[in-house]
Amino acid sequence: MRTPDEELDTIRQAGLWRELRHVQAVHGPRVTLDGREFLNFSSNDYLGLAQHPALAEAARLAIDKFGTGSTASRLICGSLAPHHDLEDCIASLKHTEAALAFATGYATAVGTLTALAGKNDILILDKLCHASLVDGARLSGATIRVFPHNNLHRLEQLLQGATAKIAPTGRIIVVTESVFSMDGDLAPLAEIIALKEHFGVLLLLDEAHALGVLGPRGLGLADHLGLQNRVDLHMGTLGKGAGSSGGYLAACRPFIDLLINKARSFIYSTAPVPAQAAAATAALQLISSDQGHTLRERLRTNLADLATLLGSAKPASAIVPIPCGTNESALQAAETLRQAGLLVPAIRFPTVPRGQARLRLTLSAAHEPQDVATLAAALNSLPRST
Ligand SMILES: *Cc1c(COP(=O)(O)O)cnc(C)c1O
Repeated sequence: MRTPDEELDTIRQAGLWRELRHVQAVHGPRVTLDGREFLNFSSNDYLGLAQHPALAEAARLAIDKFGTGSTASRLICGSLAPHHDLEDCIASLKHTEAALAFATGYATAVGTLTALAGKNDILILDKLCHASLVDGARLSGATIRVFPHNNLHRLEQLLQGATAKIAPTGRIIVVTESVFSMDGDLAPLAEIIALKEHFGVLLLLDEAHALGVLGPRGLGLADHLGLQNRVDLHMGTLGKGAGSSGGYLAACRPFIDLLINKARSFIYSTAPVPAQAAAATAALQLISSDQGHTLRERLRTNLADLATLLGSAKPASAIVPIPCGTNESALQAAETLRQAGLLVPAIRFPTVPRGQARLRLTLSAAHEPQDVATLAAALNSLPRST
């Protein structure tokens, strides 16, 4: 029998060793690690809402009224007013009949795909879909087809093949993201919608990194393109741009009822704490308000400033990948930045393909122009490795 130490050695030798960083304090875009303060360019809190007083106040009120725990799963006695308020808020913003809140985005992906797809169904995923969508698809037992990232021609071929062989009661779902988490680029959503409508199949769109960031009301790429009412299954997380935690699926009523009856990650799990649901609702209200618009403008200014200082194209989202190639050069670059007081993660296999290790930096509305200038100067003085 192999020992855990043997496995760990293999991981270390491949340059894939990971360990936890102990964050002792957070002050907006600054974090304290090992007693030293760093400028943080690794958080997904794109609008700086995780420390916003409106969210904290909503959470406190929910604790006062409902306590710290929800005491049971949603279907037993844990379905509290803050959960229903959150779901009503999501459905109203997404213009869907209903929405369902999950404990995390991961639980949403796994619960939704396993509830809506089974062995007679076909799931068609973009190659760069998040691990939670991949895991949900695998666990569902459905036939899985994968198209190269954003490749519409291959997607069309897969749709032709799938519609030719699907059973009469079978379901076909195209699964993709609006902002890809490790590249920060966008899906060609209008074209994907045209294809899925042509073939009469469903579309699940994961807006994880777009919520709060894109669209006139900050609801994501579908909002940005005016296509919200042509997406069948709207998914997202409340743990990134919404500065809280949890996941959601918004859709027409029958799909939500199916999830309530079949999604095992929803049914067999204690309901999220009421403070989380209340904070998430406050976040969504803020995101879709004029204040949210102002924060998005600040984020966009930071992104434009960074692009100017780096002499690169303006990023499509708040995620900026810097390619490094090997694990070693990505780790070395992250370490150089760390010594300069900047926290930027090196992303390696299996999160990204082998040989495509990178720095993945994220900007926030909470960064000051000086923070962006400091980052750009440090990046510009890194040795060019690729
Ligand atoms: C982060 C992420 C998730 C998971 O959401 P959590 O709330 O963090 O569990 C799902 N999908 C995508 C695309 C993500 O980036």
